[in-house]
Amino acid sequence: MSGVPCPICQTSSAECGGIVHNKPAMVAGVEIDLGDARFEMHSCPSCGLQFKHPFIPESQLIACYEQASGDHWEDSPDPYKRRFDDIERVINTHANGPKVLDIGCSNGALLGYMGQSWERSGIEPGQQAAQHAEQRGVRIIAPMLEQCETDERFDIILAIDVLEHLLDPSDFIERVRRLLTERGIFVGFTGDTDARSWKWHGSRYWYASLPEHQVFYNRATIDQLAQTHGFEVVHYERTSHARFKSTRRVRDNLRGAIWGLMMRLGMHKHASPPGWLPAKDHMLFAIKLR
Ligand SMILES: [Zn+2]
Repeated sequence: MSGVPCPICQTSSAECGGIVHNKPAMVAGVEIDLGDARFEMHSCPSCGLQFKHPFIPESQLIACYEQASGDHWEDSPDPYKRRFDDIERVINTHANGPKVLDIGCSNGALLGYMGQSWERSGIEPGQQAAQHAEQRGVRIIAPMLEQCETDERFDIILAIDVLEHLLDPSDFIERVRRLLTERGIFVGFTGDTDARSWKWHGSRYWYASLPEHQVFYNRATIDQLAQTHGFEVVHYERTSHARFKSTRRVRDNLRGAIWGLMMRLGMHKHASPPGWLPAKDHMLFAIKLR
């Protein structure tokens, strides 16, 4: 079905393939019932956003998060593996002050890594994760951005592994803008549909097979979001979600290449895709208020 309006710019979208979710479909380690609905990927010809149609209702996803055990997410991820150094480098290069707000800060691992020279605040819906973040010296100011009512302003706002969950990215960026100081920066980390591995698997790409991932960006989408909300793009790099050993990279690249070839030959019609985690399929970017 084509013609569904883009959630960012309302341009009529085009369908660009079916989505096969992981089986059983899991969110945060909890099984989610997706029924018999057919999910399609749509692509916006104007801003480049790709998005699932239909969206999986947020209420269903939240129910999974509420049932998830507190130890589902890694307590202390390896900062080097998770590229905390890359994120910090972008912040150090572009930030104008010490006040940082991490939206979806989880257990505060990144802010903990950044250390006490920053004034660290977080937004986090998971209660156990939020408590853990507070033990790491993070001040939790709200469970969700929509519920954040404060007159405070921040020099840096982070959203790491968050943007792909949003049903209204434009509203999110506008809320971020209002919370920033003059010349404040927003740093985002999310999937990038311009990645070669992504293009090879198309709508079947592993990143889109996770039910909680609903919208997918490329450079053009970030340019458009930045321009619409009064920002300029000051940093953009294509990278992998985490650093992996070379043996794992070789294995996943081979498997992904072969799987994509077989898919194009008409096989794997109903199979969920293999993971391709070491692929350079993420973007790390920073936008600054003009
Ligand atoms: Zn659009």
